[in-house]
Amino acid sequence: MPHADVVIVGAGTLGLMLATRMIAAGKSVIVVEAGDRVASSAANPSTSESRGRTHFGTMSGRAVGLGGTSTLWGGQLAEFDPEDFDRSFAPWPLSHADIAPWYAEVYRRLGIGDLQPASFYRNRLGSEPEAGAGVEPEAGAGVERFFTAWLRQPNFTRLFRSEIVKDAALRVVLRATCNGVTFDGDRATRIRVDADCRNLEITGGTFVFALGTIATSRFFLSTARQGGVPWQHDQRIGTNFQDHLAGVVGRVSVSDEKRFRDYFENAVVDGIKLQPKLRVSAAVRAVEPDDLTGISGSFVYGSDLGEHLSNIKQLVRSLGSAASIGRLRQLPANLLAVGGSFAPLVMRYIRDRRVMAFFDSSLDFMVQCEQRPVSTSRVSIADGPVLADGLHRAVVEWQVDGREIERIASFSAGVDAYLERTGLGRLAIDPRVLAGDRSFIDGMTDTSHQCGGLPMGSCPATGIVDPDLKVFGTQNVYVASAAVFPSSSQANCTLTALALTERLGAHLE
Ligand SMILES: Cc1cc2nc3c(=O)[nH]c(=O)nc-3n(C[C@H](O)[C@H](O)[C@H](O)COP(=O)(O)OP(=O)(O)OC[C@H]3O[C@@H](n4cnc5c(N)ncnc54)[C@H](O)[C@@H]3O)c2cc1C
Repeated sequence: MPHADVVIVGAGTLGLMLATRMIAAGKSVIVVEAGDRVASSAANPSTSESRGRTHFGTMSGRAVGLGGTSTLWGGQLAEFDPEDFDRSFAPWPLSHADIAPWYAEVYRRLGIGDLQPASFYRNRLGSEPEAGAGVEPEAGAGVERFFTAWLRQPNFTRLFRSEIVKDAALRVVLRATCNGVTFDGDRATRIRVDADCRNLEITGGTFVFALGTIATSRFFLSTARQGGVPWQHDQRIGTNFQDHLAGVVGRVSVSDEKRFRDYFENAVVDGIKLQPKLRVSAAVRAVEPDDLTGISGSFVYGSDLGEHLSNIKQLVRSLGSAASIGRLRQLPANLLAVGGSFAPLVMRYIRDRRVMAFFDSSLDFMVQCEQRPVSTSRVSIADGPVLADGLHRAVVEWQVDGREIERIASFSAGVDAYLERTGLGRLAIDPRVLAGDRSFIDGMTDTSHQCGGLPMGSCPATGIVDPDLKVFGTQNVYVASAAVFPSSSQANCTLTALALTERLGAHLE
């Protein structure tokens, strides 16, 4: 029977990051992955469904296979704010200070380098003076620029290729769905795996489930229904499922194009690709009531050249690979369409390390809002027999509280005030947002930032996993996933999930 010190279920973003850390620490590792060598979303409809309000990410925002959803994502890394960990409606058992060193560790391991504080980049990219103190949150002002970092190589199969291919301590079993765990008391001794329609058992010292948010609830609910696991009576599994709410809140008119570009075009600073965005300022968040949701936003550039520019960008990225041959053939047509805009684009990059934005047809502002956790927003499992992989079908019923509209309205007003104060332009806000009309929320979509379902807490009464991600009631079962988030911040979820996973890795070393 195969055995490893650490058995990781899920060869996706978090699973691969953890596996490579564990082998570097001298552990033997087996990674079990449901999908094949090339990850894809094609199997999602056969194992899951979205009911009620459409949750697009259930179908298209997850990939099954080596690399998991890292084969789809953009690789944008955004940190949670200190206030995100200290909310009355969804307290975390960890503080920002507990997580901050692990953000730095993730940057180090992913080759990002030393990120500077936002004030450094605010000055460097557009020479923005720091806003004065004493801004009233109610006034809708108190909006500031901040910067997210982008990974150069977001696909973790490629990023960790040498460890996956060459390291004998790491064994990856593909086309193998884990569908059961056997316990001896509170200690897991083995997992059951459906591997190419054969039943396989794998023993280990520690078991880490890194399945992605929806699949985590699917697995824990399915095994609870089988019985014989410590979580079998826990009715909370799958509840408080969350995502971010995204929507365009208005059209932007620019009055000072040169400064607007200096403030908001993507930039490469000291080798790090950065995206400038807007959020409620740190000074305001520190003093406002703690039950307000986080929110941020960025500009959406509309251009007739968009498709051609994107093709050229993809060609540059794929140079040297087989995919570049087909794209090279399209290059003359793309260059012809882009025409006179190509030279300024190249010049802007060479001279200023800025990625020129084209907005000849439209310029909109889009928000990404944290949703308030709702207990009826949940992942459950369908009645009836298990599917061919030995687990029940996941049913995602994504629900939204609706009070987020107040935050969206005040933030949008703050963004307009920011653009006016800095002399860059104005935001013409959607009348429904201005009126605080909750129907605006109905048109907002998810952002493939799924989280919640197995929240962490300081004790079994407040959480399903403990602050070290260990499932309460077990000695050696851990969950590495954004499923453990009690709340979701305005920030994209993966950096914080990676930081928690790195912290877990250090705990298991
Ligand atoms: C288009 C897109 C863009 C995104 N952009 C960003 C971004 O810029 N920034 C950001 O922070 N986030 C972004 N995200 C979200 C981000 O990709 C995910 O949060 C992250 O990849 C999730 O990692 P994970 O390891 O939890 O899950 P995954 O990477 O999905 O890995 C889970 C793995 O577990 C496997 N698995 C599941 N169940 C079983 C089982 N029972 N047995 C065996 N294996 C199993 C799955 O096949 C999968 O390979 C984006 C997502 C999408 C879709």
